[in-house]
Amino acid sequence: MSAENLIIIGSGPAGLTAALYAARADLSPLVFEGVKAGGQLMITTDVENYPGFPDGILGPELMEKFRKQAERFGARLLPSDVTRVDFSERPFGVWVGADEYRAHTVIVATGATAKWLGIPGEERLTGRGVSACATCDGFFFRNRELVVVGGGDSAMEEALFLTKFASRVTVVHRRDEFRASAIMARRVLEHDKIDVIWNTEVTAIHGAESVDSVTLTDTLTGAETNFPTNGVFVAIGHQPNTALFEGQLKLDLKGYVVLAGDGTTATGIPGVFAAGDVADSRYRQAVSAAGTGCMAAIDAGHVLAHHTAEVSG
Ligand code: NAP
Repeated sequence: MSAENLIIIGSGPAGLTAALYAARADLSPLVFEGVKAGGQLMITTDVENYPGFPDGILGPELMEKFRKQAERFGARLLPSDVTRVDFSERPFGVWVGADEYRAHTVIVATGATAKWLGIPGEERLTGRGVSACATCDGFFFRNRELVVVGGGDSAMEEALFLTKFASRVTVVHRRDEFRASAIMARRVLEHDKIDVIWNTEVTAIHGAESVDSVTLTDTLTGAETNFPTNGVFVAIGHQPNTALFEGQLKLDLKGYVVLAGDGTTATGIPGVFAAGDVADSRYRQAVSAAGTGCMAAIDAGHVLAHHTAEVSG
């Protein structure tokens, strides 16, 4: 089996920017987009902070542009989920089920996924009033009352988006101040369709066929109240998609890929690079993910140039 120059795992801003740069460097990268291609921007509404789009752009539309741009220069995109990797030998092994691929370099750009609360009723009522994606499910809640859990930018974004449909949105946050950026927090606090309940957790979700109420627990007093609502949107952050790399790459306590720390996207394994949210618990922005995707492609290019020089010389 002949080995690929470069396999990129993931197709959010990091993976597709890596694909664009690698394709333009004539590396003909193979990208495993995953079944849920496009990453977190696919479940985002207006992206207002991606430079170059002064009027904002919808997340899925932005990702379609990333995709087209990478394909234009010859990146090959496959809509499959990688099921196993082996970085212990070279060329590295990458599997999709029984199909085996080999590559001289790999860029890991599998991103992160929304977290759930893990409370009674949440799993049972998911898709029946419980959601982690306002863009996907907000439409079903026209003139309904909704709860949004969380105090970060995601929660603010979800709450603001849901006001397009819902009659009332209540943000429930466990502390007495938001973690979100000042501008997003202000929009929420000033919105006449949004209420905020501070120092409170949603500790159970109720309903027979669909959500009809939640239990709210005061984090200061422990007092419980029943709060009627038609839906619960959970927006409490993300966890890195690194289960695939356990035992293969060094991961930190939260599961993020640990970079070599030399200012590049190198991991502990020469020839394997990581870009985007999978290795970034701090910035987690589309533009920073795209930036590290670019860096990873350049880093992989250097390794490949060295490899080619060794093979031919
Ligand atoms: P985040 O900043 O980590 O915020 C998570 C929020 O959920 C926090 O307020 C946290 O409370 C709360 N939380 C966590 N676990 C909880 C639990 N078990 N029960 C109740 N509440 C819980 O995550 P994020 O909002 O997804 O944002 C992630 C990154 O993406 C941030 O850097 C953000 O700026 C960025 N982002 C930007 C935009 C935008 O600019 N348009 C949109 C979305 C996200 P505590 O505050 O008490 O920890």
